[in-house]
Amino acid sequence: MKYPMNVLKTDSTARGLRPRQKMFVSRVPCAFCRGDGVDPNYGNMSKCQVCGGAGEIKVKPPVVTCLSCSGSGYSSGFLSCLACRGSGVVSVAPEAGTCPKCRGTGEDGVFYCIPCKGQGIA
Ligand SMILES: [Zn+2]
Ligand SMILES: [Zn+2]
Ligand SMILES: [Zn+2]
Repeated sequence: MKYPMNVLKTDSTARGLRPRQKMFVSRVPCAFCRGDGVDPNYGNMSKCQVCGGAGEIKVKPPVVTCLSCSGSGYSSGFLSCLACRGSGVVSVAPEAGTCPKCRGTGEDGVFYCIPCKGQGIA
C-alpha cells in the first residue's frame, strides 16, 4: 500500500485544524518509506531505518495520524519525525479526545503542548 505523495504534501499546511479519526488497526504501512521497506535516503541498498525493511509497523490501537509531521513520517528534511518515530501515526488512549489545553492544535505558544505531547489528543 502506498500513499500518494500529493496528499502528504498538501496535508502539512493544516496543522490540527481538522478532527482526526482514531484508527483501530494493529499495523500501519510505514510512512517513512511509504511501504517500500527501503530507506528513502540511501536507496535500494539499505533497509528502511523506521520499519527495518518490513514496509509496515506494528502499532497499539487506536492510533491517529501524527500531528507533528501530518503523517508523512518526516520532521525536517530527511530525518524521521520524533513524535511518531517515522511511522506517521501515534497511539492514543481509547477514550482520548481533543486536548483541552491546546484545543487540538498541539501547540502551546512557541512550544508543543505538554499534556498531549504536541498531538492535540489527550
Ligand atoms: Zn519503512
Ligand atoms: Zn510524526
Ligand atoms: Zn494539547
